[in-house]
Amino acid sequence: MSFEGLPKGSCAKKTSFRDSIYFWEIVRGLGVTIGHLVYNIFHTSEMPTLQYPEEKKIYSDRFRGRHRLMKREDGSPRCVACQMCATVCPADCINIDAAEHPDSEIEKFPETFVIDLLRCVYCGLCEEACPCDAIRLDTGIYEIAADSRDKFVVDKEFLLNDREHGSY
Ligand code: SF4
Ligand code: SF4
Repeated sequence: MSFEGLPKGSCAKKTSFRDSIYFWEIVRGLGVTIGHLVYNIFHTSEMPTLQYPEEKKIYSDRFRGRHRLMKREDGSPRCVACQMCATVCPADCINIDAAEHPDSEIEKFPETFVIDLLRCVYCGLCEEACPCDAIRLDTGIYEIAADSRDKFVVDKEFLLNDREHGSY
């Protein structure tokens, strides 16, 4: 190997025995760690840790949580089964069966409206595509859990009525 062009003595620096065993650096590092440990023990209120599940994180209003379907004043779904959300959904996880609405002012309504929450990527495109503001991801629910895959496939009744739960 050639050291030509390098300042004289740049490769000649010798590491002292004290530096070469890294002992003092290990002690210094442990000192910092133990310092933080002791400080945190006596200042628990300043720690950013959340005592989940007793304490829950509050996300911003813009957070996309589990879906819900909006209702009309009479309690029926606001959805007109136009299929815009199902068409735009990149995960292909919305399934809607449309039926003729008894009210002639409203063309259609969703006879079934199913979302597979395990396929959903919470992109929010369904919400943005909806012309009736009939589907929203503003429940704030993020802790979605169930004991079987089938329970993640939620239907119209569930989406219209459950505003609080993430565990089924
Ligand atoms: S949030 Fe995205 S992935 Fe989930 S149902 Fe809506 S469009 Fe599909
Ligand atoms: S939720 Fe909105 S976009 Fe989806 S089918 Fe109903 S009206 Fe159309």
